[in-house]
Amino acid sequence: MASRYNLIVAGGGPAGSAAAIAAARGGLRVLLLERRSPPARKVCGEVLSAEGLGLWRALTGREPPVSAPAIGTAAFCTAGGSRAAVAIDPPAMGLSREALDGALLEAAAREGVEVRAPAALGGHEALASGGFRAFVRRGGGEEAVVTDHVVIATGRAVEAAGRGPRWIGRKGSVEAGEPGRRGAELEMFLLEGGGYTGVSPIETGRLNVCGLVREGGDAWLRHPALAGLAVEAELSVARFRLGLAAPPRADGALAVGDALAVWPPIVGDGITHALASGALVAEELLDARRRGAPLRAADWTAAWRSAFGRKLELALALHRLLGARAGRGALFALARALPWASRWLVGATRTGRSVRLEAGTGRISRR
Ligand SMILES: Cc1cc2nc3c(=O)[nH]c(=O)nc-3n(C[C@H](O)[C@H](O)[C@H](O)COP(=O)(O)OP(=O)(O)OC[C@H]3O[C@@H](n4cnc5c(N)ncnc54)[C@H](O)[C@@H]3O)c2cc1C
Repeated sequence: MASRYNLIVAGGGPAGSAAAIAAARGGLRVLLLERRSPPARKVCGEVLSAEGLGLWRALTGREPPVSAPAIGTAAFCTAGGSRAAVAIDPPAMGLSREALDGALLEAAAREGVEVRAPAALGGHEALASGGFRAFVRRGGGEEAVVTDHVVIATGRAVEAAGRGPRWIGRKGSVEAGEPGRRGAELEMFLLEGGGYTGVSPIETGRLNVCGLVREGGDAWLRHPALAGLAVEAELSVARFRLGLAAPPRADGALAVGDALAVWPPIVGDGITHALASGALVAEELLDARRRGAPLRAADWTAAWRSAFGRKLELALALHRLLGARAGRGALFALARALPWASRWLVGATRTGRSVRLEAGTGRISRR
């Protein structure tokens, strides 16, 4: 007899873990598959918004390490020497993905989720009787299991079809040097053509270096904050698109996090969106089960749109403006003349403000 679950989640990043934790808290039998052995390094700026930190705390029941720095300013600069700074209020936090994702996976196991890593979802098919047969790959073997629902939280789709330019994500790190050098700032170097390199501190004492670029090469390392420092370039992810993955999946699975919509990294809210959309899909699933109705991919996409669609449009517009010289100039002028307006603009992109976190139970619903 095949093992039976209420929910299989593919992907043990923030979106998948959030979905698994919230579903297990709601009483579902959950299997979570992560194809890599944790803790895994990831291409990410590792800046967690204050709202994301609130969600992370509610999901893990943990506090971040005391060494995790608060990041209260995003300072932007260009090769031409223009500069502007925007306050991040409330401050974000520098937290490595090993610590962030690792604590979520541990919390999932504590909540009774069956976590298998390394193990991958090899595919799934709908059953005539309802639910799905899913294929779990581990150590060269494959096991078929049966589940009521499938959540896909496998991250950015590389080489996906669609519109818009394709991007490459780069990642490195550098010794922070003497403590005075390690300002609690996110330093953003805007590249011609719309990319950027961000440098910011994390809890390990190192500086995380992360770039979004159109082509290979070392242009992303010409950040003034890196002058004279030896950056250890580590990882890269190639050829992904920003924005909503369209149309809703036709295979009955529900996509969350980057598998559903890739947030422009420049606004630093992708992790928060992953946590929020993961927790929200679980709440929508639980709600549908209470009503005895299936949650179809189109219903979920509509619920997602109503919570986060506007935020994504605004984030994409900001990304485009910062990539164009005239738009960048206008935004820098706004930041200098009306600091409150740029603070407001940053706040308006925060996906964590689209969800309500219930104190006590830690449940997450749409605002
Ligand atoms: C350059 C860059 C900088 C960024 N900086 C920031 C930032 O500073 N702050 C911020 O909030 N966001 C940032 N982001 C965005 C953030 O990294 C993502 O939004 C976030 O990781 C999405 O989480 P996720 O859980 O959807 O996907 P992921 O974190 O990618 O997790 C997906 C998981 O699924 C696993 N997986 C894949 N396929 C399978 C399978 N078949 N079966 C099982 N497991 C599978 C993968 O191993 C992976 O662990 C940045 C992104 C880029 C590209």
